Amino acid sequence: MSVRVRFSPSPTGTLHMGGARTALFNWLFARHHHGTFILRIEDTDTTRSTAEHAENLCRVLRLLGLHWDEGPEVGGPHAPYRQSARLPLYGAAFEKLRETGAIYPCYCTPDELETRREAARIQGQPPRYDRRCLDMGATERQALERQGRKPAWRLHVPDGARVVVSDLVKGEVGFDTASLDDFIVVRSDGSPTYNFAVVVDDIEMEITHVLRGDEHLANTPKQLLLYQALGATPPAFGHLPMILAADRTKLSKRHGSVAVEEFLAEGLLEEAILNYCALLGWSPPDEQEVLSLHEIVESFSLERVNSAAAVYDLEKLRWMNAQHLRRLTPTQILHRADAWLRAAGLLPPLPGPPLDKVIDAVTERVQTFADLPTAIEYFYRRPTVYDPDGTAKYFVPETAERLRKAAERLATCVAFDAEAAEILYRSLADQLGIKAAQVIHPTRLALTGRTVGPSLFHIMALLGRDETTARLRRAADWITAGGWKP
Ligand code: GLU
Repeated sequence: MSVRVRFSPSPTGTLHMGGARTALFNWLFARHHHGTFILRIEDTDTTRSTAEHAENLCRVLRLLGLHWDEGPEVGGPHAPYRQSARLPLYGAAFEKLRETGAIYPCYCTPDELETRREAARIQGQPPRYDRRCLDMGATERQALERQGRKPAWRLHVPDGARVVVSDLVKGEVGFDTASLDDFIVVRSDGSPTYNFAVVVDDIEMEITHVLRGDEHLANTPKQLLLYQALGATPPAFGHLPMILAADRTKLSKRHGSVAVEEFLAEGLLEEAILNYCALLGWSPPDEQEVLSLHEIVESFSLERVNSAAAVYDLEKLRWMNAQHLRRLTPTQILHRADAWLRAAGLLPPLPGPPLDKVIDAVTERVQTFADLPTAIEYFYRRPTVYDPDGTAKYFVPETAERLRKAAERLATCVAFDAEAAEILYRSLADQLGIKAAQVIHPTRLALTGRTVGPSLFHIMALLGRDETTARLRRAADWITAGGWKP
């Protein structure tokens, strides 16, 4: 039997990392087994779902490269893939449940239910539905309907039974039916509840494995009862571990960004986000954590999904991004970072060293594309400020003369490259009777305005002889004049 899995988000907000992790695990499982990955939009909660959110979810999944084989926009044999367009299907399943007597109408209003729940609470009883409508006779029902009451429909949950979920991640988890309540299947306005719609859809779409967040585990026994009532074989279930913040509390906005779109806008790479999400619960068979999507597909298995909670760590996400960034060639970075470079005015290219060479020099020092413009800016724009700590330390009066001497020497250099510049600097330091660092540190500050950066001689080579000497003289003048002069 070929694998069929689905990601079925409710379009009530933007895709967050937890949702992306669920989508990814389903996608990986499908790709690993050469199965089918389905996207289904669960928009029956009309008060919170919007078409914009649904479109946005699709867009972000696409940006991540998690393409679906069946679903909105691409269609498929089980269309439509939006629950709001599947209402007739729920109607048919509802009729079946009604005919077999698996469900019964409940005329209690929300207010009545709340009052009784409150009373139960006060008496220390669990606030369960008290089955007031279970054995109601036809006359009473008709009387209530004449008053204009419309029933909700509840599943008659068997007493004293145990429902066992054989979870692919958590192992066997048992639930006593006493804890389950006669839950609502169809609301009084005729709309299906989540548990009902999901089961009808999973049956109709021939889903073989349901992989979803841990928060849905409590729904699974209810869904298993519905499969039984509908005479259908349930799929296998796997509940993915919870994602906790570093302080081991539930992950929320206050722990920093969780929206995938924000990470993409910040310039994180899709492959890094996905690699990071994969590690939120799954561990690779060898210790190697930085993996391409292809490598993850190859080695993905549910056996290696941990049941213990995963910890969300933004530092690790950025570290992961830096690792993936280093795997790209400068040309690839140039292409993919286009928007960031353009926004910073660095594209179209400014006069100066070739952008790909500059990118190559700084890649080791950036974590995301958002860091890139700042890291390369000084190659194209002379510094307008010098780092104040640096000036206090390195732009001492004797530095001016040293920088002028260095400029003089460099100006005579015919074959100017990193190696030549280095030899020249070392011999200059010898002649001046100082340590090389005493002229190297001020030179970096003079050329870049900063105290740290890539190899200094490499920077010189990229800037070229004339620009290097001009910047050295400019800094020497700055020191002599005691700052910028108009
Ligand atoms: N629509 C549900 C959610 O967004 C997912 C339900 C499921 O996977 O069964 O949480």
